[in-house]
Amino acid sequence: MALLRCRGLRKVFGGQVVLDQLDLTVAEHEVVALIGASGSGKSTLLRCVNLLDDLDDGTIELDGEEISAPGVDPDRVRRRIGLVFQAYNLFPHLSVLDNVTLAPRRVHGRSRAQAEAHARELLDRVGLGDRAGAYPDRLSGGQQQRVAIVRALANNPRLLLLDEVTSALDPELVGEVLALIRDLKADGTTMVLATHEMTFARDVADQVCFLDGGRVIETGAPQQLFGAPTQPRTRQFLARII
Ligand code: ADP
Ligand code: MG
Repeated sequence: MALLRCRGLRKVFGGQVVLDQLDLTVAEHEVVALIGASGSGKSTLLRCVNLLDDLDDGTIELDGEEISAPGVDPDRVRRRIGLVFQAYNLFPHLSVLDNVTLAPRRVHGRSRAQAEAHARELLDRVGLGDRAGAYPDRLSGGQQQRVAIVRALANNPRLLLLDEVTSALDPELVGEVLALIRDLKADGTTMVLATHEMTFARDVADQVCFLDGGRVIETGAPQQLFGAPTQPRTRQFLARII
């Protein structure tokens, strides 16, 4: 069964169609890369999946439940989905450990001891075990972004959505975040990631979706989509950026 199934998504902002008849299916343990020019709808798609934006049409199912149905509690859905943005949005006044344990304690009702044990385990795993007591401004951009990903993982999400998580980083810091995403894939984490890193998308994704004007123009395995794109618009896009 698909973990995530989007059907016929439509989103209009002030008369502009931003998502248009968009279908996307993600299997459990699959990594899907969303590529496409700026403004093609990648972030809007991720925001709709996390119920941060309302749909104008279409349905979204998570684990077979229609989460886009009226009356569904968005908070309950968001507990099952982790979303990390381009600019690491850590709480500046909280230590790394408190950033990571806040939601598990407040939203998921974990005890401090339980939440901290899990947080320390995750921080160790991403090589930041010794920074648990530090405040975000003492960390590099790459470290902050890794903490932001750990914070999303601390809720044991079914699905992790990553929106251009390396775009705000200095080039020399991109690698450590990509390495973490690669590790998460090896652990079987299901992810949908919007990215400008084509080499990385080719390397890590099971499925690549090329968006243009809010539509999925082409989707396929990376070798196929990058190596032998069938749609003229995909070819144009790739020719411009690679
Ligand atoms: P991408 O992430 O691929 O760059 P976005 O999903 O951010 O694309 O944006 C798709 C289109 O939707 C853009 O034209 C953008 O200006 C528009 N858009 C996104 N969010 C809003 C909003 N809150 N209000 C109005 N227009 C928006
Ligand atoms: Mg975006």
